[in-house]
Amino acid sequence: MSGRIGLFGGTFDPVHNGHISIAQSFLQSDLIDELWVLLTPYPPHKTREFQTPYEIRLEMLEKAFSGISNLSIKTIENELPKPSYSVQTIRYLKEHLPDNTYFYCMGEDSLAKFHTWKYYEEILEECELLVAQRPGETHKDVEDKILQRTHFVDHTPLDVSSSGIREKVAAGISITDRVPEEVVKVIEKEQLYS
Ligand code: ATP
Repeated sequence: MSGRIGLFGGTFDPVHNGHISIAQSFLQSDLIDELWVLLTPYPPHKTREFQTPYEIRLEMLEKAFSGISNLSIKTIENELPKPSYSVQTIRYLKEHLPDNTYFYCMGEDSLAKFHTWKYYEEILEECELLVAQRPGETHKDVEDKILQRTHFVDHTPLDVSSSGIREKVAAGISITDRVPEEVVKVIEKEQLYS
Protein backbone atom coordinates (compact mmCIF):
# COMPACT_ATOMS: atom_id res chain seq x y z
CA MET A 1 0.00 0.00 0.00
CA SER A 2 1.34 3.42 -0.84
CA GLY A 3 0.03 6.72 0.36
CA ARG A 4 0.86 10.35 0.89
CA ILE A 5 1.72 10.59 4.56
CA GLY A 6 2.14 13.75 6.62
CA LEU A 7 4.56 13.33 9.52
CA PHE A 8 3.80 15.69 12.40
CA GLY A 9 6.41 15.43 15.15
CA GLY A 10 6.37 17.11 18.52
CA THR A 11 6.98 16.89 22.24
CA PHE A 12 3.31 17.63 22.98
CA ASP A 13 3.96 18.57 26.61
CA PRO A 14 1.05 19.10 26.65
CA VAL A 15 -0.86 18.76 23.38
CA HIS A 16 -3.08 21.83 22.89
CA ASN A 17 -5.72 23.35 20.61
CA GLY A 18 -3.00 24.84 18.37
CA HIS A 19 -1.75 21.33 17.57
CA ILE A 20 -5.27 20.08 16.87
CA SER A 21 -6.01 23.03 14.66
CA ILE A 22 -2.83 22.66 12.55
CA ALA A 23 -3.36 18.89 12.27
CA GLN A 24 -6.79 19.62 10.76
CA SER A 25 -5.31 22.19 8.39
CA PHE A 26 -2.67 19.67 7.21
CA LEU A 27 -5.38 17.05 6.59
CA GLN A 28 -7.54 19.55 4.70
CA SER A 29 -4.65 20.52 2.42
CA ASP A 30 -5.37 17.75 -0.15
CA LEU A 31 -1.62 17.07 -0.29
CA ILE A 32 -1.78 14.17 2.15
CA ASP A 33 -4.04 11.16 2.65
CA GLU A 34 -3.06 10.52 6.26
CA LEU A 35 -1.39 12.34 9.13
CA TRP A 36 0.92 10.42 11.45
CA VAL A 37 1.53 12.21 14.73
CA LEU A 38 5.01 11.29 15.99
CA LEU A 39 5.45 11.64 19.73
CA THR A 40 9.09 12.49 20.35
CA PRO A 41 10.60 10.97 23.51
CA TYR A 42 13.74 13.06 23.57
CA PRO A 43 13.93 16.04 21.23
CA PRO A 44 17.45 17.30 20.48
CA HIS A 45 16.49 21.00 20.53
CA LYS A 46 14.61 21.23 23.84
CA THR A 47 16.67 21.90 26.92
CA ARG A 48 14.02 21.77 29.65
CA GLU A 49 15.28 19.51 32.40
CA PHE A 50 12.00 17.97 33.46
CA GLN A 51 9.77 16.52 30.83
CA THR A 52 6.47 14.78 31.41
CA PRO A 53 6.85 10.97 31.07
CA TYR A 54 6.28 9.59 27.59
CA GLU A 55 3.29 7.47 28.59
CA ILE A 56 1.43 10.46 30.06
CA ARG A 57 2.13 12.63 27.01
CA LEU A 58 0.86 9.73 24.89
CA GLU A 59 -2.33 9.47 26.96
CA MET A 60 -2.99 13.19 26.45
CA LEU A 61 -2.27 12.90 22.72
CA GLU A 62 -4.65 9.97 22.29
CA LYS A 63 -7.42 11.85 24.10
CA ALA A 64 -6.86 15.06 22.13
CA PHE A 65 -6.80 13.43 18.69
CA SER A 66 -9.43 10.71 19.17
CA GLY A 67 -12.05 10.62 16.45
CA ILE A 68 -10.13 12.58 13.81
CA SER A 69 -10.30 10.65 10.53
CA ASN A 70 -7.08 9.70 8.76
CA LEU A 71 -4.98 10.62 11.77
CA SER A 72 -2.98 8.15 13.82
CA ILE A 73 -0.50 8.47 16.65
CA LYS A 74 2.82 6.71 16.18
CA THR A 75 5.39 5.84 18.82
CA ILE A 76 8.13 4.92 16.32
CA GLU A 77 10.60 7.43 17.76
CA ASN A 78 10.41 5.73 21.15
CA GLU A 79 11.89 2.58 19.57
CA LEU A 80 14.73 4.39 17.79
CA PRO A 81 18.00 5.65 19.36
CA LYS A 82 17.87 8.92 21.30
CA PRO A 83 17.99 11.87 20.79
CA SER A 84 15.16 11.75 18.29
CA TYR A 85 16.51 13.34 15.15
CA SER A 86 13.81 13.62 12.49
CA VAL A 87 16.26 12.52 9.82
CA GLN A 88 16.64 9.20 11.61
CA THR A 89 12.85 8.68 11.70
CA ILE A 90 12.59 9.48 8.01
CA ARG A 91 15.43 7.07 7.13
CA TYR A 92 13.65 4.38 9.14
CA LEU A 93 10.32 4.98 7.36
CA LYS A 94 11.96 5.11 3.94
CA GLU A 95 13.62 1.79 4.64
CA HIS A 96 10.61 -0.01 6.13
CA LEU A 97 7.72 1.61 4.21
CA PRO A 98 9.42 2.79 1.02
CA ASP A 99 6.29 3.03 -1.14
CA ASN A 100 4.83 5.99 0.74
CA THR A 101 5.50 9.64 -0.10
CA TYR A 102 6.32 11.60 3.03
CA PHE A 103 5.62 15.24 3.87
CA TYR A 104 7.13 16.64 7.04
CA CYS A 105 4.54 18.89 8.76
CA MET A 106 5.40 21.72 11.15
CA GLY A 107 4.49 25.15 12.46
CA GLU A 108 6.16 28.27 11.10
CA ASP A 109 8.45 28.60 14.16
CA SER A 110 9.92 25.20 13.32
CA LEU A 111 10.38 26.21 9.67
CA ALA A 112 12.36 29.27 10.81
CA LYS A 113 14.77 26.93 12.66
CA PHE A 114 14.71 24.10 10.14
CA HIS A 115 18.21 24.91 8.80
CA THR A 116 19.58 23.95 12.27
CA TRP A 117 18.07 20.43 12.15
CA LYS A 118 20.56 17.61 11.76
CA TYR A 119 21.10 16.72 8.06
CA TYR A 120 18.19 18.97 7.08
CA GLU A 121 19.28 18.78 3.43
CA GLU A 122 18.72 15.02 3.51
CA ILE A 123 15.25 15.57 5.00
CA LEU A 124 14.50 17.94 2.11
CA GLU A 125 15.62 15.33 -0.41
CA GLU A 126 13.26 12.77 1.08
CA CYS A 127 10.25 14.96 1.98
CA GLU A 128 8.51 18.15 1.06
CA LEU A 129 7.48 20.34 3.98
CA LEU A 130 3.93 21.30 4.96
CA VAL A 131 3.85 24.40 7.11
CA ALA A 132 1.10 26.12 9.09
CA GLN A 133 1.37 29.76 10.13
CA ARG A 134 2.04 30.49 13.78
CA PRO A 135 1.37 33.88 15.44
CA GLY A 136 4.51 35.97 15.89
CA GLU A 137 6.53 33.91 13.39
CA THR A 138 7.79 34.72 9.93
CA HIS A 139 9.55 32.81 7.16
CA LYS A 140 11.19 35.87 5.59
CA ASP A 141 14.71 34.69 6.53
CA VAL A 142 14.22 31.08 5.43
CA GLU A 143 16.65 30.01 2.70
CA ASP A 144 15.29 29.61 -0.83
CA LYS A 145 16.35 25.97 -1.09
CA ILE A 146 14.07 25.24 1.90
CA LEU A 147 11.19 27.38 0.63
CA GLN A 148 11.34 25.62 -2.74
CA ARG A 149 10.35 22.39 -0.95
CA THR A 150 7.70 24.04 1.27
CA HIS A 151 3.92 24.20 0.95
CA PHE A 152 2.02 26.59 3.21
CA VAL A 153 -1.40 25.23 4.16
CA ASP A 154 -4.49 27.37 4.66
CA HIS A 155 -4.66 27.92 8.39
CA THR A 156 -6.13 30.37 10.87
CA PRO A 157 -3.27 30.96 13.33
CA LEU A 158 -3.94 30.23 16.97
CA ASP A 159 -1.81 31.80 19.68
CA VAL A 160 -1.27 28.79 21.96
CA SER A 161 1.94 27.06 23.06
CA SER A 162 2.82 24.20 25.39
CA SER A 163 5.24 26.45 27.30
CA GLY A 164 2.49 29.05 27.78
CA ILE A 165 0.16 26.36 29.12
CA ARG A 166 2.80 25.05 31.55
CA GLU A 167 3.31 28.61 32.83
CA LYS A 168 -0.43 29.15 33.25
CA VAL A 169 -0.89 25.91 35.18
CA ALA A 170 2.05 26.80 37.43
CA ALA A 171 0.44 30.21 38.08
CA GLY A 172 -2.95 28.65 38.80
CA ILE A 173 -4.58 30.22 35.68
CA SER A 174 -7.30 28.27 33.85
CA ILE A 175 -6.30 26.61 30.56
CA THR A 176 -9.71 25.29 29.57
CA ASP A 177 -9.84 27.64 26.56
CA ARG A 178 -6.57 26.22 25.17
CA VAL A 179 -6.59 22.50 25.85
CA PRO A 180 -9.31 19.86 25.30
CA GLU A 181 -11.27 18.99 28.43
CA GLU A 182 -10.01 15.38 28.47
CA VAL A 183 -6.42 16.67 28.47
CA VAL A 184 -7.14 19.11 31.31
CA LYS A 185 -8.38 16.11 33.31
CA VAL A 186 -5.08 14.26 32.75
CA ILE A 187 -3.07 17.35 33.75
CA GLU A 188 -5.10 17.59 36.96
CA LYS A 189 -4.99 13.85 37.71
CA GLU A 190 -1.20 13.66 37.22
CA GLN A 191 -0.61 17.08 38.84
CA LEU A 192 1.51 18.18 35.89
CA TYR A 193 3.32 21.55 35.65
CA SER A 194 2.33 22.82 39.10
P1 ATP B 1 6.80 24.68 23.45
O1 ATP B 1 5.99 25.88 23.79
O2 ATP B 1 7.19 23.81 24.63
O3 ATP B 1 8.01 25.02 22.58
P2 ATP B 1 4.98 23.92 21.29
O4 ATP B 1 3.68 24.55 21.68
O5 ATP B 1 5.76 24.60 20.20
O6 ATP B 1 5.90 23.69 22.56
P3 ATP B 1 5.63 21.30 20.22
O7 ATP B 1 5.17 19.98 20.70
O8 ATP B 1 7.05 21.66 20.39
O9 ATP B 1 4.67 22.42 20.90
O10 ATP B 1 5.21 21.51 18.69
C1 ATP B 1 5.09 20.49 17.77
C2 ATP B 1 4.83 21.12 16.41
O11 ATP B 1 3.63 21.90 16.45
C3 ATP B 1 5.93 22.07 15.92
O12 ATP B 1 6.09 21.87 14.52
C4 ATP B 1 5.35 23.46 16.18
O13 ATP B 1 5.86 24.39 15.25
C5 ATP B 1 3.87 23.22 15.96
N1 ATP B 1 3.01 24.12 16.72
C6 ATP B 1 2.76 24.09 18.05
N2 ATP B 1 1.86 25.04 18.40
C7 ATP B 1 1.54 25.69 17.25
C8 ATP B 1 0.64 26.80 16.96
N3 ATP B 1 -0.05 27.43 17.91
N4 ATP B 1 0.56 27.19 15.66
C9 ATP B 1 1.29 26.57 14.69
N5 ATP B 1 2.14 25.55 14.91
C10 ATP B 1 2.26 25.11 16.17
